[in-house]
Amino acid sequence: MSEIVVSLPDGSELSVAEDATVEDVAYEIGPGLGRDTVAGVVDGELVDKAAPVHDGAEIVIVTEDSDEYLRVLRHSAAHVFAQALQRLSPEAKLAIGPPTDEGFYYDVAGVDLDADDLAEIEAEMETILDEDLPIERELRPREEALATYEDNRYKREILEDEAAGEDPVSFYVQGDFEDLCQGPHVDSTGEIGAVKLLNISSAYWRGDEDNDTLTRVYGTAFESESDLEEYLTLREEAKERDHRKLGQELDLFSIPDVTGPGLPLYHPNGKKILDELSSYARSLNVDAGYDPVETPHLFRTELWKKSGHYDNYVDDMFLLDVNDEEYGLKPMNCPGHATIFDEKSWSYRDLPVRYFEDGKVYRKEQRGELSGLSRVWSFTIDDGHLFCRPDQIEREVNQVMDAIYDVLDTFDLDAHVALATRPEKSVGGDEIWERAEADLRTVLENQGIDYDLEPGDGAFYGPKIDFAFEDALGRKWDGPTVQLDFNMPERFELSYTGEDNEDHRPVMIHRALYGSYERFFMVLIEHFDGKFPFWLAPEQVRILPISDDQLGYAHRVKNELDGFRVSVEDRSWTLGRKIREAQEDRVPYMVIVGGDEQEAGTISVRDRKERERGDVDVETFRAHLESEYDEKRLEPDFIDS
Ligand SMILES: [Zn+2]
Ligand SMILES: [Zn+2]
Repeated sequence: MSEIVVSLPDGSELSVAEDATVEDVAYEIGPGLGRDTVAGVVDGELVDKAAPVHDGAEIVIVTEDSDEYLRVLRHSAAHVFAQALQRLSPEAKLAIGPPTDEGFYYDVAGVDLDADDLAEIEAEMETILDEDLPIERELRPREEALATYEDNRYKREILEDEAAGEDPVSFYVQGDFEDLCQGPHVDSTGEIGAVKLLNISSAYWRGDEDNDTLTRVYGTAFESESDLEEYLTLREEAKERDHRKLGQELDLFSIPDVTGPGLPLYHPNGKKILDELSSYARSLNVDAGYDPVETPHLFRTELWKKSGHYDNYVDDMFLLDVNDEEYGLKPMNCPGHATIFDEKSWSYRDLPVRYFEDGKVYRKEQRGELSGLSRVWSFTIDDGHLFCRPDQIEREVNQVMDAIYDVLDTFDLDAHVALATRPEKSVGGDEIWERAEADLRTVLENQGIDYDLEPGDGAFYGPKIDFAFEDALGRKWDGPTVQLDFNMPERFELSYTGEDNEDHRPVMIHRALYGSYERFFMVLIEHFDGKFPFWLAPEQVRILPISDDQLGYAHRVKNELDGFRVSVEDRSWTLGRKIREAQEDRVPYMVIVGGDEQEAGTISVRDRKERERGDVDVETFRAHLESEYDEKRLEPDFIDS
């Protein structure tokens, strides 16, 4: 029999028999691996270990230790859900039940389910785990499959579309249950350590609103009970911290229907935070030699044609007709900045030129994809563009990275860093790509940054370094980026005069320290659970008079704290209630003034962490606040005597 060659993750190649399966490949690598094989990834697709491989295939063997294992296990849990449902409600019609990033769902019809039914189904699922039923793959003639699903039009549609022409077709069987399915699955239901049904909603068959409405049940599964517990605790915490919930409670922002989807309105409290963020970014930019610029919200589509956005991005753009001419709201700020650069002639001595702008952009995301501040139609990028000589790339990127790490430190955020290199299709010569990639690598290595290399994942116009924030709950969010661009300078024919008196193309660098304000704000709200550091807090100090008799004194203290965001609680509540309210509003400092304080001309200070000190003079408190603000401390710091 002839042999074929497959490649493995370490780049090595292996010859195997022409009819080899994923499992055969694993045994070929080693008998231990063969025994441990759960499934495989062939050319990026998760498949059953019995799936055939082909010549030139890229193969990853999935074992219990692989990242993909949880996905396999959760797909099996989806089947366990379906099995439990059929035991309890034989009339239920199964549609489709895939694994997801956080668990699985199953869409079903013909049964009336609500949230109260989930506990009973979950108990039956646990019985099925205890039964430890072997999960077996069976290939069946297509005719037989069609007959099986005579009264289930969803499965029949899958057979007719996704599995069109397949014969035999693949089923998975566990005890009294079977499902038309490509797999892969774990070996038995007992291998699933813990299951949980999370919620119930509705969904259109195949996501098409002209189709039937099905019931969708979401669940998750883990290898162990303790992993599940940990997940559920984090999930609860994430719900409590949800930026949409806190955004409303703390009166930060809203996205009302009347103003349009994905178009956030920032309320005074939210805007105070955004202004602080903006002035912090501005100070980092000015220190790094950037000049602020400003560009409008729309441009002639001429400009978008020149920049290439019109060809590649037009579906995501908002276009308008003005006096028979087409304009587009800007999806990016770069073309405006490139044009500013182009309005002047430059010598090599003038470079680098660095522009920055808090630039609002508009991108038409699918309405179904919009979510809080994380996916919106309008957002503001703390956008910076540098125009430099190739020999300046390393120094400039170094400086940008320093600023990004300043931001991470200031907010106590961790980040994952990835270097994405030249893709197959790209513009720009070999020399510039090699130089740019080497420069980015040098910066990462000199700064001692751990990073993942993502070969071929760069933009077609240049390599990039991407950051993903990791918040207090360990979740990851897209963050800052540094992107080199050899394309836009070409398209805009940007140039500078070199030492040789010839025209040269500058390299353009796109960078953002936060990413977008919207996304960053969302991360901060959830990361801090709304307890913003003093310098960001929309209300920094609340003065609580013990009785109305001290209202006048309270206002005098407020005046002495002029320059900070201070309010006086003038509602005639008990002190206890006033404190609780300030605590709920997450105000960093409370100042309590009663008769004694008024007489002595002092104050009592209580912080968000419920630490209290009496007999403080206002000047001392003011000096304390000034240093806390200037140092951007993360937590209220208790006043030393
Ligand atoms: Zn399945
Ligand atoms: Zn840009």
